[in-house]
Amino acid sequence: MTETTPSTSARPRAGGEHPLVRAVNVMKSFHGNEVLKGIDLDVHRGEVVCLLGPSGSGKTTFLRCINQLESIDGGRIWVDGDLVGYRAEGEHLHHLTDKQVAAQRRDIGMVFQRFNLFPHKTAIENVMEAPIQVKGVDKKTARQHAEELLAQVGLADKSGAYPGALSGGQQQRVAIARALAMDPKLMLFDEPTSALDPELVGEVLRVMRDLASAGMTMIVVTHEMGFAREVADHVVFMDAGVVCEEGTPKDVIGNPQQDRTKSFLKRMR
Ligand code: ADP
Repeated sequence: MTETTPSTSARPRAGGEHPLVRAVNVMKSFHGNEVLKGIDLDVHRGEVVCLLGPSGSGKTTFLRCINQLESIDGGRIWVDGDLVGYRAEGEHLHHLTDKQVAAQRRDIGMVFQRFNLFPHKTAIENVMEAPIQVKGVDKKTARQHAEELLAQVGLADKSGAYPGALSGGQQQRVAIARALAMDPKLMLFDEPTSALDPELVGEVLRVMRDLASAGMTMIVVTHEMGFAREVADHVVFMDAGVVCEEGTPKDVIGNPQQDRTKSFLKRMR
């Protein structure tokens, strides 16, 4: 279902208040396997949205589409009013060049299940890398900012440590600091605690909670129901590539209406 000349009619209002992220009827297939079957989502500035749902329901794929790690086959995604993955040329829209995609992705921080730190760089070097390489920030400024960010995630004393000498929870906090180093307007978290030993989950969730309190806009794929209940403004339950149910955590987690949501939540207890 590839569209070559999509219309711009769904473009959000220019200027004024538009959602930071707007997804409309997003579709994605892998080799004929329809993974996203028309996802709609609005995320407003300062909001925390948690994506819940069984494994294989398309949550990670949807995050990767927002960050352009995957292209979409149908629908539209806007980030801060910019149509992601396309550029306008006359009447038509075309896919962006790699350079344009990279520019759009700069504003989006992503934290993965596996922390993916550079093993041969220290914590602070990991945090300094992108601002220096991608933004051309000078080394002294990058170091200063990285020190502040490591302090923010509770790792001021670990700046010289290599990833191999850090616990999983510490590595994930470095990964969060690294994403923040680019001053993103949006943070995407893809099951950030699911590779951690249970006793290390809390320290990462605490950092995420602080970030949410500070007003960061976040989309979080998680199985941590306590976190979703306490921190999310909006919860989206996905199953088999569609949004089954969405609303406040109180409604969706506390009083689910759909059978699929009910049975998923029962399994999570
Ligand atoms: P979730 O995050 O909800 O567990 P995913 O988005 O990871 O779901 O996966 C949804 C479906 O898409 C799964 O069936 C998965 O195998 C498939 N999938 C994801 N990425 C790829 C890919 N790169 N190639 C082929 N299939 C993929």
